[in-house]
Amino acid sequence: MSRVAYVNGRYVPHAEAGVHIEDRGYQFADGVYEVIALIGGRFLDEEGHHERLERSLRELRIAQPMGRKALSHVLRQTARYNRLTSGIVYVQVTRGVARRDHPFPADTQPSLVVTARRIKGPSAAAVEQGVGVITTPDIRWLRRDIKSISLLPNVLAKQAARENKAYEAWLVGEDGMVHEGSSTNAWIVTKEGVLVTHPPADAILNGITRLGVLAAARKQGIKVEERPFTVDEARKAKEAFITSTTSHVIPVVAIDGQPVGNGHPGEVTRALLAGYLAGFGLSSGSFQ
Ligand code: PMP
Repeated sequence: MSRVAYVNGRYVPHAEAGVHIEDRGYQFADGVYEVIALIGGRFLDEEGHHERLERSLRELRIAQPMGRKALSHVLRQTARYNRLTSGIVYVQVTRGVARRDHPFPADTQPSLVVTARRIKGPSAAAVEQGVGVITTPDIRWLRRDIKSISLLPNVLAKQAARENKAYEAWLVGEDGMVHEGSSTNAWIVTKEGVLVTHPPADAILNGITRLGVLAAARKQGIKVEERPFTVDEARKAKEAFITSTTSHVIPVVAIDGQPVGNGHPGEVTRALLAGYLAGFGLSSGSFQ
């Protein structure tokens, strides 16, 4: 079955789907996006994704292409046309089409593209055995709180991870602090059992999964500190993990080839994954 995309008001087969060569997303990366997980026919944290999308658009002064209710309908229709019940829906909004010139164009409608595809949840091996990360300098711009489609530094970091047989690259600031992963948020659990993750400042994207895991932690009575941590502190931590819409909660058992804690996934990480999924009435088996 051919995949179907929503492009500016029409549902079209992928082979026929395209954007104008002077779309500002294509020429300037002048746009934002969201990735929303769909499991068993339900969108996870849809409202959180709408809120973040609207915030990203506001911060860049790009008009909302449509209201929340209408967009929600488009997400559902795109999933339906692709016969998707578990997978991800991708939403991209750009400032629109205009003759190439840096300043904002006058009277341009934003472009909206929505695609959907099947993905399996995080692999059982990654969840059960944990993954390795590498560290690399964070060379991104200073507004990482905006979910911009300008992802070249993230692409380069993820490629470096792949070339080093690691699952993810942790992006480290000039001050030695771990900001986040190239497409995930970064966490540690200290020897004292305190959960630590970077505060949602401009330095990181405030992950929707991050917020779900924080809620799960508070529910479980785990002490939380939203503060930066160094690579060295992470190496000496009891546990480490990453979170994202597509990864959920994946244990990190090695950083730059050196073990974290005892080199095995930890109990707090496991409990947080279970707590995060339970928030949606799901368990690890729900989407394998
Ligand atoms: N940080 C970055 C840089 C990301 O790209 C992502 C994934 N979009 C995340 C964190 C995790 O965010 P979320 O939990 O909303 O998927």
